[in-house]
Amino acid sequence: MLSYQQARALVISRLHAIFSEPHTESVALAGALGRVLAGDILADRDYPPFDRAIRDGYAVRSADTRSSATLRCVGELKAGDTPTVSVAPGTCIQIMTGAALPAGADAVVMIEHTQRNGDIIQLDRACKPGQHVVLRASEQAANQIVLSKGTRFSFSEIAAAAQVGAAPVTVFAKRRVGILSTGDEVVDFTASPGPFQIRNSNAASLAAQVQAMHAEPIALGKAQDSREDLHAKIAAGLLTDALVLSGGVSAGKYDFVEAVLRDLGAEIIFDAVAIRPGKPVVFAICQGKPVFGLPGNPVSTMVTFDLFVRPAVEILSGTEPGPLPFIEAAVVKGLSEKPGLTHFLPAKAEYGAHPLVTPLVWQGSGDIIAMTRANCLLVVPPDRETIEPNERVQILPRGLW
Ligand code: AMP
Ligand code: MG
Repeated sequence: MLSYQQARALVISRLHAIFSEPHTESVALAGALGRVLAGDILADRDYPPFDRAIRDGYAVRSADTRSSATLRCVGELKAGDTPTVSVAPGTCIQIMTGAALPAGADAVVMIEHTQRNGDIIQLDRACKPGQHVVLRASEQAANQIVLSKGTRFSFSEIAAAAQVGAAPVTVFAKRRVGILSTGDEVVDFTASPGPFQIRNSNAASLAAQVQAMHAEPIALGKAQDSREDLHAKIAAGLLTDALVLSGGVSAGKYDFVEAVLRDLGAEIIFDAVAIRPGKPVVFAICQGKPVFGLPGNPVSTMVTFDLFVRPAVEILSGTEPGPLPFIEAAVVKGLSEKPGLTHFLPAKAEYGAHPLVTPLVWQGSGDIIAMTRANCLLVVPPDRETIEPNERVQILPRGLW
């Protein structure tokens, strides 16, 4: 059986193989958070555009500076001023953070290291050339790439686009991810379930996971556990960019998802991964579209989305999936799990210089409520049956990926 690393690698390579670029659209910077840049953004001028003082103090010739040296102050420059006076030997100009360094000066002495008496400034130390100055173009030269195509906008990228005057920005259109639930027992979460029915929580969590990736969830409702209904609804779902099903992939008599995908001509890339929760997970390419058959147990659905669907949606969105952001933590409480599978257990981490993690009590992969108490997944490798207290393990923080 595939390891989750092998399964992820298969998803990534198959998605690269079928990828074609999404459409683009123009969005205001205010709407760019989380969106993927569709073309390089270049610097419109040098950054900084001038040699910039980064402290309040005096613009000096560094060669003039030493302990107890005195300089005559011949002017003042605040941020936004055009320098007109140059700094001749034996003189200085008072300068504020953000102002352009005047001609003649090559450094800034912090105000804290001076004493002023009228126009005479006494220094208490020498300074080096370039001190407290950021040179023109040292951050980026004009016409060089500031943000490259495929970058996802976070606040710093939004600031960079604003700085270079690139707003509005051209981004890739959001991918449409179809969500189709299966199961005769499943009713819409707005409905009242009968005594042995359950509400469709997977449709809700999957839509949220898709939204969190700045893709567009397309609610396709629910298919009954019959080949005919599944066939019709999967076929309709293939109009989206990627299709995610929940349920119907185990070994039960009414688990038809894989068979129906085959009927529709799908190439099944894998149908099981050595993990718990989430072992019976299907990845197929059907009529050129990626299709994921996630197990129906809600925690399995959440975990397998994050492990396998996420990288696919990243690639479809025009960007690259990063590696899983593991953190090392010491387990507070020992545990033992069935070997041969990688376990992803809901756990509570205390982050800090030496992270600690406690596995939570849970009732298995149907226990949504335990997941709400978890802030990470604790990873138990397949070659381990028991983990002793204080041992180091890997955890996957929630909300980081
Ligand atoms: P399945 O993968 O279809 O065998 O379902 C496994 C378990 O998950 C069963 O207990 C189902 O009732 C439950 N389940 C399936 N689909 C959903 C859903 N959409 N929302 C909540 N639970 C579900
Ligand atoms: Mg089912």
